Amino acid sequence: MSIRFTGTPASPGVSIGPAFLLNVEEIRVKKRTLKTGEEVEIELERFNDALEKTRSELESISEQVSDIIEGQQLIEVHILLLNDPSIISEVQNRIKNEQVSAEYAVSAVLYDILERFNAIKDPYLRNRSVDVRDVGRRVIANLLGTETEALSTLKSPVILVARDLDPSQTAGLSRRQLLGIVTDLGGSTSHTAILARSMGIPAVVALNDVAESAVPGQIIIIDGIHGNVILDPDDEELDFYSRLKKRYNIAEAEIALNAESPAATADGKRVELSANIEFSLEADQIRRFGGYGIGLFRTEFIRLLTPGVEDNEEMHYRAYKHVLQTMNPEPVIIRTLDLGGDKFLSSIPTVEKNPFLGWRGIRICLDRPEKFTGQLRALLRAARHGNARIMLPMITGYDQVLKVTVMLENIAAELDREGVPRGDIPQLGIMVETPAAAIGIDILLPYTDFVSIGSNDLTQYTLAVDRGSPYVSKLFDSLHPAVIRQIDIVARKCREAGKWVGICGQMASDPLAIPLLLGYGLNELSVPMTLIPDVKEIISVIRMSEVVPLAQKALTMESSDEIRKYVLDYVRSKYPDVILDEIHREKIDRGR
Ligand code: PEP
Ligand code: MG
Repeated sequence: MSIRFTGTPASPGVSIGPAFLLNVEEIRVKKRTLKTGEEVEIELERFNDALEKTRSELESISEQVSDIIEGQQLIEVHILLLNDPSIISEVQNRIKNEQVSAEYAVSAVLYDILERFNAIKDPYLRNRSVDVRDVGRRVIANLLGTETEALSTLKSPVILVARDLDPSQTAGLSRRQLLGIVTDLGGSTSHTAILARSMGIPAVVALNDVAESAVPGQIIIIDGIHGNVILDPDDEELDFYSRLKKRYNIAEAEIALNAESPAATADGKRVELSANIEFSLEADQIRRFGGYGIGLFRTEFIRLLTPGVEDNEEMHYRAYKHVLQTMNPEPVIIRTLDLGGDKFLSSIPTVEKNPFLGWRGIRICLDRPEKFTGQLRALLRAARHGNARIMLPMITGYDQVLKVTVMLENIAAELDREGVPRGDIPQLGIMVETPAAAIGIDILLPYTDFVSIGSNDLTQYTLAVDRGSPYVSKLFDSLHPAVIRQIDIVARKCREAGKWVGICGQMASDPLAIPLLLGYGLNELSVPMTLIPDVKEIISVIRMSEVVPLAQKALTMESSDEIRKYVLDYVRSKYPDVILDEIHREKIDRGR
């Protein structure tokens, strides 16, 4: 009997292969006490040797990953941690003062550091403990002489299954022997996920209990596009996913051919099909996938690549400059910091009972102008390197937009006074993520240059459904009549005012939502980069002459089920088989 799991898609692609279970050793080791001063000297020496060995291991991994910027950065951080003089002397002091073995001293110091990390509220900073644990484990393994590189001995390709994966283990993996990675822990922005994406290996993380359920050698299907993992699949599942894999591989090969052509409907309406990105390095891939510009650059994640360092003006400037130069002359919509809610809060008290209704997005930025100014300075400085647009999240009133407009003018004058080079003040747009912004769009339009609908939050706030809560997730539905009616209002008012309007929420890549979104007349769809080829194909079979009346008719319907069925009837004759299969499967999953 097959077992299905759903986790967070971390790196796209489909793989089918045997499971390889990786156990990560515990870091606690038994206490061994020393009797003589001579023994203490020996332990200090052993510790030194282990540091040396670990250093050369990390250096050789760094060479292996020399073509992956993220991998190199990660290993550099590990080498810095390994060389940290305060940690080294803490271990040496324990050996000397407590007269204990080197491995015990390392494990005890590590344990203390991890305890301190666990007490940190900010989940982002707390997550950085994986790097410390990773380096510590390597040192202990070298002291004990245990083999940490079990994977290097693999003879044939496998799907790696682990509770969690140390970042340096991921970086050290051979791409040839790895078909995919599945882990119980981690998130889409964990190091494992970032590295798997850079290596082009499908990965699904946050599966909770897959490692416990998997058996070595058992066949596993991993669908890194949708986040599905199946242990011991049945014939029907093997058939479905073999077709999906084939299609994905063909699509990959075709991507290069289709990449040049713009997205357009069957009756010739051009649609801007852009990408959502979270890391500046992702920009390098957008053209390969056939994307036009960037419809949403989430800037909260920039600091992730430099662990332990708070984000600052320079870090943002460098990231924006890279993205703008890469995409030039196409537009790049850079969203200002959207902290709070589900996105990590650094140094922000978490006393709120309802963080999604609390201090988040533009509210934090306006209350903390010292930090926000740094981001706006970086944006103005970077603007001279390409076609930048600035977008504000969580807008509920025109005064918020006005305040940022004034800030931008003041900062531009300040940069000029300082003689710092800058670009023109970019277009300033808003995200429509709250019913206040959607229903009040006519009030906001005179103050904004463009609009992008954030359907994830718009759905959450319209339906009063916490988007991260497993208890109410089945109520989260962007095809709800109240959501599509707001999208229609926003699109119509923007058109009347001659303002550009796009959408950058998850809905923009939903095969059943796309006909409606085009029917309401949106100028742009911005989707996760890897879904661009699929969405382009869907757009190409749609006719505006059909979807304009279809979208209007949907506005008269009473439930999302009715709307979904109505659109499905329309697309049934149009979409390629495999996309219909996916819709079908998604329907089955929704019904579970
Ligand atoms: C949205 O809310 O739809 C959106 C794109 O923003 P985020 O998912 O980053 O909150
Ligand atoms: Mg949002």
